[in-house]
Amino acid sequence: MKVTEDFVINRPYDLTGEDLMAIEEASPVEKDKGDWEKKCLDGFKGRFRRDMLPKQNYRCAYCRLELHTNEVTPEIEHIVPKNLKPNWMYEPFNLCLSCKLCNTKKGHRKKTLVDESVEELPHDAKAYKLIHPHLDKYSENIEFIGDILYRGISDKGRYTIWLCELNRYEVAAARAMELIKQGVIDETRTILMLTDEDNQKLVDDLDEFLEDIKNRIRTYKMENGIG
Ligand SMILES: [Zn+2]
Repeated sequence: MKVTEDFVINRPYDLTGEDLMAIEEASPVEKDKGDWEKKCLDGFKGRFRRDMLPKQNYRCAYCRLELHTNEVTPEIEHIVPKNLKPNWMYEPFNLCLSCKLCNTKKGHRKKTLVDESVEELPHDAKAYKLIHPHLDKYSENIEFIGDILYRGISDKGRYTIWLCELNRYEVAAARAMELIKQGVIDETRTILMLTDEDNQKLVDDLDEFLEDIKNRIRTYKMENGIG
């Protein structure tokens, strides 16, 4: 695991006076999950992203892949979904940045809290089922196989892999591509690693998975003029 992948967010975002005014404007009476989309929050969201990106080493909180800020805007992710706890919607400790795919896979119906009836936002790692980017060290919960597949080495690690479907082929392909670009591994080794009997159990549909990865590698090579 790269050092840059193994971050714990050292300090949540500090809400500014402007942020507090925007939050008040968005949710004057009580907080509703729909408030999150209001235009008046744009400034706050921009400041939040700029503050968090370096704190997360420009990586997604869950898959730890690089957030390509010039291609897509990193998603502001509610660790405990805002549908479940609208009152925590603006709590910096409940917010982080993630890639769009992890955000989508995680959704808002899957559990993140051990006890969903708690009323105060917990600051204790034991209160969460997933790897909490403000609290938990990634390398104590997940290890990489060949730098491509994720293996949980704790309950939280296994839960996070399930929650965000981290062994999906888009992630594996992205990781493989990063390594191939860096010249760390080649295509043959990637395929061999993925077809290893133990690793097969980690992915759902291995044939489809491999086909997709091969296609992506082929496309990448064509686009970049690599033989
Ligand atoms: Zn991600």
